[in-house]
Parts: sequence; structure tokens; C-alpha cells
Amino acid sequence: MPKYVYFFGKGEGEGDASMKDLLGGKGANLAQMAKMGFPVPPGFTISTEVCTYFYQNGQNYPKELKAQVEEALKGVEKERGSVFGDKENPLLFSVRSGARISMPGMMNTVLNLGLNDDITEKLAESNARFAWNSYWRFIFMFADVVMALPKEELDEALEGVKKEKGYKLDVELLAEDWKEAAQRLKNKVSVLAGREIPQDPHIQLWEAVGAVFKSWNTPRAITYRRLNRIPEEWGTAVNVQSMAFGNINDQSASGVGFTRNPSTGDKNLYGEFLPNAQGEDVVAGIRTPQPISELEKTFPECYSQLLEISKKLEEYFKDMQDIEFTIENGKLWMLQTRTGKRTAQAAVRIALDMVEEKRIDKKEALLRIDPKSVESFFRPSFDPKAAKKVIAKGLPASPGAAVGEAVFDSDEAVRLMEEGRKVILVRMETSPDDIHGIDAAQGVLTSRGGYTSHAALVTRGMGKPGIVGCETIFVDHKKEQFEADGIVVKKGDKISIDGTSGEVLLGEVPTLEAAVSGDLGKIMEWADEERALRVFANADTPAQAKQSKDFGAEGIGLCRTEHMFFEESRIEIFQEMILAKDKEARESALAEILPLQKSDFIEIFKAMEGRPVIIRLLDPPLHEFLPKEEGDIKSLAQKIGVSEEELKSQAESLKELNPMLGHRGVRLAIVYPEIYQMQARAIMEAVCELAKEGVKVSPEIMIPLVVSLEEFNIIKDLIEDVCREVKDSYQVNPEYKIGTMIETPRAALLAGKIATAAEFFSFGTNDLTQTTLGISRDDAGRFLPKYLEKKIFKDDPFLSLDQEGVGSLIKVGVRAGREANKDIQVGICGEHGGDPETIEFCHKIELDYVSCSPFRIPVARLAAAQAKIKSKIN
Ligand code: ADP
Ligand code: MG
Ligand code: MG
Repeated sequence: MPKYVYFFGKGEGEGDASMKDLLGGKGANLAQMAKMGFPVPPGFTISTEVCTYFYQNGQNYPKELKAQVEEALKGVEKERGSVFGDKENPLLFSVRSGARISMPGMMNTVLNLGLNDDITEKLAESNARFAWNSYWRFIFMFADVVMALPKEELDEALEGVKKEKGYKLDVELLAEDWKEAAQRLKNKVSVLAGREIPQDPHIQLWEAVGAVFKSWNTPRAITYRRLNRIPEEWGTAVNVQSMAFGNINDQSASGVGFTRNPSTGDKNLYGEFLPNAQGEDVVAGIRTPQPISELEKTFPECYSQLLEISKKLEEYFKDMQDIEFTIENGKLWMLQTRTGKRTAQAAVRIALDMVEEKRIDKKEALLRIDPKSVESFFRPSFDPKAAKKVIAKGLPASPGAAVGEAVFDSDEAVRLMEEGRKVILVRMETSPDDIHGIDAAQGVLTSRGGYTSHAALVTRGMGKPGIVGCETIFVDHKKEQFEADGIVVKKGDKISIDGTSGEVLLGEVPTLEAAVSGDLGKIMEWADEERALRVFANADTPAQAKQSKDFGAEGIGLCRTEHMFFEESRIEIFQEMILAKDKEARESALAEILPLQKSDFIEIFKAMEGRPVIIRLLDPPLHEFLPKEEGDIKSLAQKIGVSEEELKSQAESLKELNPMLGHRGVRLAIVYPEIYQMQARAIMEAVCELAKEGVKVSPEIMIPLVVSLEEFNIIKDLIEDVCREVKDSYQVNPEYKIGTMIETPRAALLAGKIATAAEFFSFGTNDLTQTTLGISRDDAGRFLPKYLEKKIFKDDPFLSLDQEGVGSLIKVGVRAGREANKDIQVGICGEHGGDPETIEFCHKIELDYVSCSPFRIPVARLAAAQAKIKSKIN
């Protein structure tokens, strides 16, 4: 006979912690705790198979279920010495949902099930307050979660009584008041529902069980499953458990806790409890709960028992647990345990401690930490206890918390910053003209753009919080204000932005500074011992290079030379070069650029202390660098000595229909070789100067957007000629490499040929994704969300590598490249280099390195170690 019902009780459990698929997380762990001999109120779990059956059979139950439930009920009655539905000695239950993983949208718990008018009356003879309070709670929960009546209306019964009696708090209610509230609520329910609360406990039970199964298919649950990729077939279990009463008298309480501190990881029991309370009163904020340490004074025996149980739970689960308990008349009852959620800081602390306690090994410790969470170590966060008013939500482009006055203009941001004020730059979007404003601001909020928009890239690069694509805010640059959720935020108004969640908050929310503790250093050390992939940084300036090295970068995988001109003092020279009408004008601008580049290269090389530095020659999307605002146009026109009109028409002539596929990358140098000649000279002069001083450098020159061997060779020759000349004049002979980016399908397909001349490949996965999918990331916002919703793409291909498509091309390129040139160094750069899933892929296909933005370096180090550990397990 198929088994659908699993009993748990004193010292025994038909299930155990390994049976989460069948019993759900809550049920499996209740059985486990019972088995371990902890005080768990006896009960039973109806398995997830019944849920599956229920939906496959027109919402009917398997015929065996009823008898199995009856039998389990008897078992509980026997153990508790009371009877379900009996007036003299009633047994009451909680009915709790429980899927494999805890899931919002599932039915909330119904407590005190089994009470009705008669039983309550009888119970009231011995403890009236408890009886009527419990009955009120039962009616409320049953009406709310099983009958789905509106909570606000249900609240009115109790509120009415309180108002009439002049009470503020629930604790002020006397027995008779609860009786009154219960009766009013009952009447209210029959009016709202058009039927009475069932008086027969068995009917109550089956209605509640049915409601749990039905909650598996509420729109909220379905949405949650879709977003979190939880399969439909999992189903939920139902836990029917006898009650422990925390509201019976002052010797009773209800509480929640963690076996270690979930925000710091400290090794002490952490949590709260409320005397004379039931269920989630503790977290509902009705009264202020007491810290769990107070239990030691008020319930010393329960406290030491709880410590003992915590210790054993940790020994068994080998992880920090989140527990729920109730004390009934001085006796402790355990109601739940599960692995506890924790901050990144606590995750690291706990993993280290557990290794020291010999519960887990180093590899397991590394696997315990979510690589993505590591980024938060370097960012401040909002105090989770602070009150928050969320007015909008955008894409969390760059994590961290920032607070400041809203400003809508970059010059203004700088001005206020110089006055010592903190600002958040709010713009429709940002461009290179805003770099100084972004730099001056605490964080950036834009209403447009995606994860790879200018604002997103720059805030990530600078390591400051950024929210982009926040479409529900309406920015009015003229009026210097934005509107969100009906609220107008004017210039100077304080706002807070959470780049980790994407939330825009009204006012000043207090932040917690994240200290980089020694703990993470230890984890990183272990990760470095483990990983095979090398981790490089995308760093464009000396400051970023230094930072990358501090974060553990083994080199620079991508130094974007055009980013060196994002600074305001430099952008005009660059614009002058782009707009030059002839070779002469261009060369004169280039001559101005050369010393700037050279001095940057010197600083970057020095910062990297001999580690490889891959410098990508100019690849500017030209249009992005042109001046747009009247003031900027005027000042540039003056500088280069042309009329504004002339400048505008030159800018016009540079416009391309499709700049992404336009005159950029190596194509620029095929037409204007002097640009790369200047850059090669700047690099080689920097290298030679340092070589003369005896400083070790490992320069690698990278040519962008190559699609053919011929193209590569022309530029390679050009660079080599310049390098030879510079070396001769300095009379030193430092080594350097020349390689290419692979950013188009053609380059990947012809990688074998290109590898005969190139010394390294770097897959530029941002552009390779665009060119492979034929999707412009700047326009993808209009349709990509639908693609994700319809599961055409599993993930945003610009955030996590499209392994099936783009990944196949990379595999082809790597294989062909290595066949042609066994020493070729191969890596990826671009946004994907810091994505843990992509890193796992890179490990599998045996790349040499990944390169990512500085703040992602620790993420990548850990993800690379996890990739290796996982590959050994599988
Ligand atoms: P959730 O999944 O939201 O945590 P639970 O099923 O754990 O919901 O129930 C919420 C609360 O109800 C528990 O924390 C506990 O306080 C109370 N509760 C559940 N079952 C019982 C029980 N058998 N006896 C007493 N209280 C219970
Ligand atoms: Mg809950
Ligand atoms: Mg719970």
C-alpha cells in the first residue's frame, strides 16, 4: 500500500532530514528532531506525493489517505493523552505548509485547529483568557488563510473591542474581551463568507489540508516558482502537528532564534522571545520581544536545554540553524529548524569557525559562501533595522548603499561635493560628460539603461552604488526633480539608494560600514590554493590597478585605453583627435595624448609589479565621445579653433547608422594607423623607461575587433616597427606580447589562423555576445525582459554567458587556437568575467584566466575555486 502519511513523535520519526523531497523541509526536519529525542509536539506529515496526486486527479486525494490520517491522529492522541474533537480533553493542531524549500506564497499556518464553540466554552472553565484568546486566533487564521477573507475586515472585530474599552495593546484584553472579540469575529466571518466557520474539527482539518495544497497553485506561488526556477512537480507537504501553547500563562512563551549570530557569525545563541504569546507574535511587532539571553533569567532550564539542542543540531546539520520554539507552562517545545540565512560577513565567519571546529573541511567551507555575496564585503549596506520607504525599484547595477541629496547635473554634483555635501546623481542616463559628476557623487540613479549602460559600467568600475533602468521614476532635468510613486523629489531632497537590491528610498537611511576583516582574507587564501583559473582585472587607470592588486588580481586582463580619457580634463584632447579633419590635425592631437598615456602606463605597470598587463588599443565607440551639450561644443570649438557650426557638422559626419558595427576597433587603425602608432609608442616608451630603472614589467598589447589574420598582421607589423624603434632609442630590449581580442563569430571561427600570429587571445564576451546573438545590448531592454519571462533565455546573456551559443564559439576558438599555437594564453574579459556561472564554464573549458572589474576580483577567486572543487565532486 502506498504510504502518504509520516508520523513523528517522542523519540521517533518515520521520516528524517534526508527526506525533504517527500516531506518538505519543515516536515523532514521535524521528524529528524523528533528522532534525535528533542521535545517536538507529535504530529504527522502528508507527503508531497499527495500534492502531485491532488493535481493529477482533479483535486482529489488518494483513497488510502483518509485511513492513514486517522491512524496518525490516533498516534498523536495516544502520545498527548488527549482527543481531537473531545470536549473534556481536546487535542488541538497546527496545520502548516512546507515545500522542499521555504517558499513565499504558500499557505500560512493555522493554529489551534480543533476548537469550536463548545470546546472553547468548556476550556474556558479552567483558563478563560487562554481559551478565548486561542479561539479568536483560530477563527482569524482559518478565515484569513483557509477562507481567504480580507484581513483588514477581520481585524475590525478586535479593533472594535479595543477601541470601546480604551485599550492600546492586546495584552490589556481580559478573558471576557477575547470572548467578545471571538464572537464578533465569528459573526463577521459568516457575513463575509456566507457560511459559518466549521464546528466539526475533522472538517476544519480537511479544509485546512486542502487549502495548503491549493496554495501551491496561487498566482503568487506560481510567479515565485517561475522566477526561482522551482519545478511545478515538487509540490508541497502538509504538516499537522499537535499544539504547544505559548499563550497559556506567564510561564509560557514563544520565540525564534539562530544557533549563531546571523549578522556577525558570532558563536552564541541569538534571537528573541515573547512571554505569553503564540505563533508569530514575536516577529509581528505587537509587543517588543526580549533578547533570547533573557531566557537565562526567566526560564533557566529551558535556556540550557535550548543551548544543548542548538549544539546537537549544529553537530548534525553541520551548519548554523534557524529555530522556532515555544515554552508551554515551563516546558520547552521545538517547532522548527532549518539552515539559517546570514549576511556575507556571517557566512564567512561561520565557515571559518566550522573548519576550526572540525565540522567541515576547507573545501566545504569554500562551497558554503555565495561568491556573489562576497562583493558586499567592500560596500556599505543599509541598517536592516532602519525604517525604509521604497519609492521605486530599478536594476541593481552596482552594489552598495548610498545616501545624499538628489542632484540632476554633473557640474552641480561637483560643486556641492566641493562644499562638503553628499549627493546622489540622478539622470535619465549618463555619458562620458558625466564622469566628474559620477565621481563626485555617492551613487548614481538613472531612469534608463541596462546593466551594461554607461552609468552601470562606470559605477561598477568606481565601486560606488548604482541603480539604472529605474523606469518608474520620471526625471525632469529642467525642473531638477524626479517623480516616483506620486512623490516629487526635488534637488536637495535626501534620498538613499541600494545598489544591491535596486531600491530607491526616500530620506536618509542609516548605513553600516562594511569592514574588510581578516576573515575574508583567509577564505581567499584557501580559494587561491584551490583554483586553477588565474584572475585578472579590468582596470583602466592607475588607481584601479592599485585597487585590483589589493583585491588579489594576478594581472590586468583588460586596460581600456579610451577610458583613460573619461576624465574631464582630458576629454577635450580626445574629442579633438576624433574630430581632426586631416592627418596633420590628428597627429597634433595625438602628440598631446601621448605623454598622458605614457605616464598612466608607467603608473599602471608600477602598480602591477611585474604582473601581466594587457593593454587594449583604442576602441572608442566614437559617437559616445562627442560633445553633446552646447557649452561643451562651444568650449571645444574654441580649443581647436573652429566655429561651432563647423564642429557640429564634423560631429554629424561621424555619425554612424550602427556604431556597434561601425568604424571602430582595429578598423580605426587600418584607416588611421597613426592612432595605434602613437599608442604603441606610449606603451613602449613607458616599458623602456621602467626597464632602464630595473622595474619589471610584462606588457601585452591587445588589438580589438580583429576578424582576419591579414588585418591582424598589418597592425602587428605596425606595432612591431614602432616598438623596435623605441627600444633602439632607449637601448634596452624588454619583452612584450601582441595578441588579439576575439569578439566576432568570424574571429572565433578563424581562431586557428589568427593564432599562428597572435600570442594571446582574450574573448571579449560583451561584443561577442552582441555579434553572436545579433542583439545590441543598448536596445535589448525593449525585448529582453520578455525573452527571460518566456524562458527563451535562461539568464540575461549580457550578465551570464550564453554558454550554449556564445560558449560554443569560445570552445571552437580555444580548441583551434591551441592546436595552432600550443603556448597561446587564453582568457575572457568583459562583464561575464565576474559572473560565477560563467567562471565555472571557463574552468571547464580550461581557459587560463578570467578578467573582471576590480570589485569582482574576490568573487572570481572564490568562484574559480568552487568551480574546481565542484568539477572534482561531479
Ligand atoms: P513559517 O513557515 O511561516 O515559519 P510555521 O509553520 O513555522 O510558518 O508557523 C509559524 C509559527 O506558528 C511558528 O513559528 C510557531 O510559533 C507557530 N506554530 C506552528 N506550529 C505550532 C505548534 N504545533 N504549536 C505551537 N505553535 C506552532
Ligand atoms: Mg510565516
Ligand atoms: Mg516557521
